[in-house]
Amino acid sequence: MARRRNTTRFGVTGLGEREELAPGIFINTHYRGCTPGFVHTEEGIILVDAPLIPKQAIDWREQIEQQYPGDPLLYIINTDHHRGHALGNQYFMPCKVIAHERAHKEMSGYTENFKERVRNSFKREPDIQAQLNNIVIIPPDITFTKNARLLYGTREVDLIFVGGHTPATSLVWLPNESVCFVGDILWVDQHPYMAQANSLEWLDALEHIRNLDAEYLVPGHGPVCTSEATHKVGEYILFMRGRVRDYYHAGKTKNETKSGLVGEMLEWFPVPAERKVKIESQIKSGLNRVYREIQREEEENAISNDDADDSGDGDL
Ligand SMILES: [Zn+2]
Repeated sequence: MARRRNTTRFGVTGLGEREELAPGIFINTHYRGCTPGFVHTEEGIILVDAPLIPKQAIDWREQIEQQYPGDPLLYIINTDHHRGHALGNQYFMPCKVIAHERAHKEMSGYTENFKERVRNSFKREPDIQAQLNNIVIIPPDITFTKNARLLYGTREVDLIFVGGHTPATSLVWLPNESVCFVGDILWVDQHPYMAQANSLEWLDALEHIRNLDAEYLVPGHGPVCTSEATHKVGEYILFMRGRVRDYYHAGKTKNETKSGLVGEMLEWFPVPAERKVKIESQIKSGLNRVYREIQREEEENAISNDDADDSGDGDL
């Protein structure tokens, strides 16, 4: 299908310009925290994720209302429960929030302490920090476990749980327009955030995305792309799994593995000097996660090999 991408860009307040991927489907790649989108239906607007910075969330809402004055905001779908996707929910009320049931569990556990950590993460940007004085967590009103489908007007919006990046990560797939919001499964030219990852599930999620054969993939972070872009992050995860297994077999502890491999992983994507410390600790938290996964796999392997020996002894 050779549909030309609509390159017309719109801007309202100068805080960020939206882009129309298909008629009535908009995204904005200029905000911090994630790339949010919205889908116009004959019955109202369905949003995908929310900008993290309050001024940007308010700007996004103004852009939606400017594009479709008077149309109600029906739903906001969070592709996962992380701050970059879900903290801005409060700026789109009174619409209903939809996310995976695990996102509900996680977000219901966000305490004052969490809000303080969010504010502290902006201590070098006091203007943003000040905007975050009134954080209100809006956990999902509607949850799903595997899949859900919204049918509004001529739109079909499929929510597909894939996990991988977090136990809540879900895709938002519009089959008629061939657009898929892939959340944080896909990171383009950036280190994926793996602190809550399940690497095998993540590889399956990438395969799932490839099988959709979408015309446009909208990653949580990075530019719009096609399934071609799924390969690099898949290779990154496979490489990490392989190297962690090498270290595990060599008898290295989790901490030795983390400090031993962080340098190798860092080389995969360019990292600006001022973000190096942060990305290093992010990579280490991913290595931590993958180490535990490999350890479990290896222990299970050992047990099933024992079983095989038993059956060889004729006990069964
Ligand atoms: Zn995330």
